[in-house]
Amino acid sequence: MNVADLRPVPPEGEREARRYVDYFVRNGVTKGSVLKSVELTYARSNVFFDDTYTYFEKSGTFDIACAKGCAFCCHTMVSVVPPEAFYLANYIRTEFDADASRAMIERIVAHDAENRGKSGAARHIGRIACPMLDPESHLCTVHAGRPLTCRSMHSSDVSACRTGFENRDAYHPTPSHALFFKNTQAYYDAYGTALHDAGLFVEPLELNAALATIFTEKNVFLRWLKGENPFENALADAALTDAPPPA
Ligand code: SF4
Repeated sequence: MNVADLRPVPPEGEREARRYVDYFVRNGVTKGSVLKSVELTYARSNVFFDDTYTYFEKSGTFDIACAKGCAFCCHTMVSVVPPEAFYLANYIRTEFDADASRAMIERIVAHDAENRGKSGAARHIGRIACPMLDPESHLCTVHAGRPLTCRSMHSSDVSACRTGFENRDAYHPTPSHALFFKNTQAYYDAYGTALHDAGLFVEPLELNAALATIFTEKNVFLRWLKGENPFENALADAALTDAPPPA
């Protein structure tokens, strides 16, 4: 068998959407089923990303330059779908010990108060780190619960990432591969279809604004489950004001 035959195939959006619609029809859209669906998405995506890394390594078709403690890409805006925001909020409340959880929540809320509405480019230019990035080790403190957007970030040239960061140039090109993003897009499309069909609000949210909303406002999960939009001030659109400069 040729290594090319082992090339990981990204999920197809419509098929995943069908699986999610069925999943929510079978289990109902509840707090438990929403958190479980994200857990399953991340578990499946981990397999896909592992296979993709292995494929690139064996075929030599793309070098992954990413390494532990390299966090240039954690200085931008992250967009998520509502279930991921609920999943990460739950992760911070249950996987950290009580003091660490309280400290992290305070850190996210303070960070959001200072930076809400800033675009990805503004965060990159300002070297504004994600509040969940450990400032000393440069490790993600929520690694196992991090969103799909973060999971799909990668580069084959760390010097390009460093140049963009050091020059505060948000548009400096960094080489990436479409395979990673196709997986993430398929799941975002799937959530879009399944939750829309269930009558629930689903739009991309800015990660920290969504978490701060969940941590500071009352009954956000319940309101969302009732079909309300508790995230009107946390939409990623509000922070997506970047226009690339003229070539
Ligand atoms: S959640 Fe983790 S991986 Fe994502 S931007 Fe924040 S620190 Fe980086």
